Amino acid sequence: MINLVLFGPPGAGKGTQSEFIIRDYRLIHLSTGNILRAEVEAGTELGKYAKQIMDEGKLVPDEVVIKMISNKIDATPEAQGFIFDGFPRTIPQAEALDTLLLNKGTAIACMISLNVPEDELVSRVVKRGEVSNRPDDNAETVRKRLEEYQQRTLPVASFYQSQEKLFEIDGVGSLEDIYGRITAILNHYI
Ligand code: ADP
Repeated sequence: MINLVLFGPPGAGKGTQSEFIIRDYRLIHLSTGNILRAEVEAGTELGKYAKQIMDEGKLVPDEVVIKMISNKIDATPEAQGFIFDGFPRTIPQAEALDTLLLNKGTAIACMISLNVPEDELVSRVVKRGEVSNRPDDNAETVRKRLEEYQQRTLPVASFYQSQEKLFEIDGVGSLEDIYGRITAILNHYI
């Protein structure tokens, strides 16, 4: 089993690169953002609760997303491995994920962090907002999301660095070039 964390700020390209990875490797894609948006869309209690938090660019409470991920991991016992996208986003989430995987006799193999300058992130997210219909894809909310990222999510990179699992790559360039940087790392593990 190989488990990978794809890491980076809003607009870094985690979702896009995840699609390439699942096309080529037999991994299950778990994006907490996608799962939460599906709950909002379906009008569930969780969706109603999470919508306002997401629209403001804040983080949904740890216990809520940890439970969501735990359920998804349990729902696919046959998985060859997972790509975690948008999770873990806080230190308590990273610690909980280590425990969940340890209970399954596995662990995170590596974290790939996509580095993109802030100006580029804002322009990508605003551009995505023109087609995504995501209420949080606008210049004002992305600033809040970036602030949450700096304060609460960035420490997660150090968490994996201390386990010698962090790989940082340049997230600027053509989609193919960026994917090439990712596969160069993944091919050491798969
Ligand atoms: P992006 O990475 O572009 O900000 P996501 O789709 O990953 O977008 O997340 C959108 C929103 O969903 C976040 O701003 C946050 O409100 C919520 N969210 C997603 N994943 C998490 C998480 N692991 N912990 C807390 N909140 C989350």
